[in-house]
Order: sequence, then structure tokens, then C-alpha cells
Amino acid sequence: MDKRDYYEVLGIPKNASDDEIKKAFRKLAKEHHPDLNPDDKSAESKFKEVNEAYEVLSDKEKRARYDQFGHSGVDPNFGGGYGGSPFGQDIDLGDIFSSFFGGFGGRRQNNPNAPRRGSDLETTVYISFEEAAKGTTKQVSYQTIQNCTDCSGTGAEKGTTARTCSACGGTGQVKINQRTPFGVVQTSRTCDSCKGNGKIIDTPCKKCSGTGRTRVTKNVDVTIPAGISNEQILSVGGHGNAGQNGGQPGDLHVYVNVRPHPIFERRGDDVWCELPLTFAQAALGAEVTVPTLDGTVSYNVHESTQPGDVFKLKGKGIPHLGGRGRGDQFVKVTIEVPKNLSAKQKSILKEFEQECNEKNYHKRNGFFSKFKDILSD
Ligand SMILES: [Zn+2]
Ligand SMILES: [Zn+2]
Repeated sequence: MDKRDYYEVLGIPKNASDDEIKKAFRKLAKEHHPDLNPDDKSAESKFKEVNEAYEVLSDKEKRARYDQFGHSGVDPNFGGGYGGSPFGQDIDLGDIFSSFFGGFGGRRQNNPNAPRRGSDLETTVYISFEEAAKGTTKQVSYQTIQNCTDCSGTGAEKGTTARTCSACGGTGQVKINQRTPFGVVQTSRTCDSCKGNGKIIDTPCKKCSGTGRTRVTKNVDVTIPAGISNEQILSVGGHGNAGQNGGQPGDLHVYVNVRPHPIFERRGDDVWCELPLTFAQAALGAEVTVPTLDGTVSYNVHESTQPGDVFKLKGKGIPHLGGRGRGDQFVKVTIEVPKNLSAKQKSILKEFEQECNEKNYHKRNGFFSKFKDILSD
């Protein structure tokens, strides 16, 4: 099957910035997340495709290679620098969370034995509006690449050891002398015998097939501070993929997705909501019940309240993140016109209407006098 162009997959131009790539990825990953599309069989393959495109385009080196050589530049089957990850193409999906593998072993350094930091992982946590306002702790489940416990990351079956490659002396590189018209030029290339690893494993560990790495599902409790906003990212140090040769593990970046609330809307640290009143409540004034993040409060709506009027409940908003105090809650009044009137209600209203005069309808009078001005022009 022909592979789609990665830029096309993410719907971004060739010169897209890192930010644009990330944004496009997030949007599409959410759109095609299999958990959010349980009935759509194609979602999973689209999700994987998006993931794969992001994995390459978000990595400077891989992106450069992709720009130059296309898919073959980053295809693990092509034996380029990217090779080595048995997980690159086959990503299982967690329940609600999924981890995006940055891949490992991508950067061949000169010394294959030098410590290498593990790559960072990214996962999403979904929280409610209230949880964002009050703060919470969420257990996040994610998949990570760890050193194999059977062989302690060496890749050699228990009781055996990897031996140093004799072809390159363990450096992973062999020097070759090339005769050119200008004399002999020495260049180096990756050692064929050990594929640049510097070591040869005669009896590969069965559990990890000699890679020294296994994929495990881990859980971590993430503290989500009160006042966090949608799309903020929390970093959990040391919970990314394991490092190699004693290198530090990467970090886990937890992307916070705050579900919208049916009533409340957040603007900065203020909370807005609408409050439907009856015509009589608005006209006469009334004591009404208003929902807030802390439960309901009662509020006295004054006489002659108009649709669109806004009142403020001080300090009933969202806590300022990492600081003291809270935003406010703003309540916008709407008026509901009654439906399904009985004969009696209609006759009362008609009677009421006949009792009304200019003094009762200020705005309406103003409107019609302006209208007259337009006609007389
Ligand atoms: Zn192993
Ligand atoms: Zn070698």
C-alpha cells in the first residue's frame, strides 16, 4: 500500500513550525482517538497514521531525513539510523489513555556505549470542569519502554553476556581507507558485524528478543492543581522511556483535557453561566437559586431585571493556579417566554397587556420613535 505523505496526513505545509505540527497532531489525535470513536473501525488506523506522522515530523533528525529521502529515510525496515525499535510500527492502544512513543535508538552516537537519555512520552488525561477548578489526583495509565528485567537491559540471555565486537573493537564504527586522486582518505561507517552496537549477542534474551527493552504498562498518580486550564501540560519527571547504558529516563508529558461543563463556561479564572428567569420573576424581582462550583446559593434578583443583565457572585470563580484567591462568577439573565398557555392564562395576559402603558416599556417606545424618525427622513 502506498503510504500517505506525512505532511498531508497532518494537514500542514512542508515548512510548518514545531508548534503547528504539535497542534495539528493534537487535534487529529483527539478526532481519531479510537476510544472516542468506538463505532468507527477506520479511526484506529487513522489514529496510527497520525501518530506515525507525528513521531517522524516532531523529531528534528527524522524530519530532516524524511524531507530528504521520503518514507525510505525513516522506514525501520530500510535499516537506516531509525532501526532498532521493534515497537515503532505496532502501537497498542490503552483504554482511555495512550502513549506516543518517541522511539529509541534513533540517534546513533559515535560511541554506542555512551549513556543515552530515554525519550519523552506523551499522554492525555481527561478531567471534568469541576476537577479542573478544585484540583484532583488522577491515575494515568501509559505504556513505556523499560529495560528488560530478564536480562537487565543487556539483551543477552540470563547467564550469558554480550561480547565486544571484534570487527570494530566495540566502537560500532569501522574505518575504511579510500584511494582517491588526492590520496588515501579515511572515512568511517557503521560496523556490519554488530550493526553499530559495538556488541554481539550470541544468545539473545527470549523475553526481549535481544533488544534489552520491553514495553510495559505503568500507572502513575498525577497531581492536577486547582485552576488548571484546558490544554495545559504537566510534566512528570523520570516517567518516560528508560535510558540506555545508564542514561536518565525521559519525562512523561501529561496533556490535560478539560471536558466542557453543561452550564458553566470558563473565561480566564471567571465562570460564566446563564440563568433563565420567568417574565414575572424578572418584572417583580425574586429570590432565585443559582448554581455555583460550591453548590447553590440564593440571590435576590431586583425588580425590572432585563434579559442580558449580568450580576456578579464575588469569589465564586476558579482558583488562580498556583496562587491565592479566585475569580468571580458572572450570571447572565435570560427570560423565558411561557409556552402552552391555558385559556385562563391567555385571558389574564390579555388583560395585563391592556393595562400596560408607555411607562411600562421604555426600550420599546425608544425603538419606535427612532423608527418614525427614519420614515420621516
Ligand atoms: Zn531481555
Ligand atoms: Zn562491530
